[in-house]
Amino acid sequence: MDIARLYELQKIDANMEKVRRRVAQIRRNLGESDELRATRAAVETTRATVERLHAHQLDAELNGQQLGERIKASERRLMSGEVHNAKELEALQASIESMKRQRSQVEDDAMATFQQREEAEQRLTEQRATLAQVEAAWQTSQTALQQEEAKYKRMYAQLKQQRESVTARLSADALALYTQLSERKAGVAVASVQNGACSVCNVSLPTGVIANARIIEGAPVYCPSCGRILFAG
Ligand SMILES: [Zn+2]
Repeated sequence: MDIARLYELQKIDANMEKVRRRVAQIRRNLGESDELRATRAAVETTRATVERLHAHQLDAELNGQQLGERIKASERRLMSGEVHNAKELEALQASIESMKRQRSQVEDDAMATFQQREEAEQRLTEQRATLAQVEAAWQTSQTALQQEEAKYKRMYAQLKQQRESVTARLSADALALYTQLSERKAGVAVASVQNGACSVCNVSLPTGVIANARIIEGAPVYCPSCGRILFAG
């Protein structure tokens, strides 16, 4: 049995497995990153805050203006001499005072909201700059990943061709043995002898086993520990 060729096939299969894993890893990293999504969400939250604060500020300003007009109207009435009744005058004055206090509160609110909005706008500017950086870095990494994926796809196609040419030169028996063993042994059917040990399970091999494995045209020799075909070339 051509153990050297089976070993060659094993190396090709191991490389194909590595390439498949790397491609799977690349595909997991393709698409939007958590960082990109989080940064974009932060921008959106702040943008909504700015909008809400702006609406609130506008509302407070309009309330202040309305109160101002009502105060003026009441003051005109007070000065007009139309109201003679003392109680009515008192009530009108009290109402003016109350509206002035209200207006003062509303104006404070508008000012505070304006300041909050300015802070939020500043934050939004910073977050947008960060987002632009994150997007640029992400785009660069995506391009690199896409190029890497393309490279591995070409590599995979080459390995597949190599595999076909190796299997074409193997006997049906050898290929069947390899395939069965590969399925049972986690994709690794052939181990090499490295410093007197099995390269897969690392168990030291008896010298008789190594000697048998060196007989090139002999029957396959198996690792006594893990049961894989040994290649001693
Ligand atoms: Zn072994």
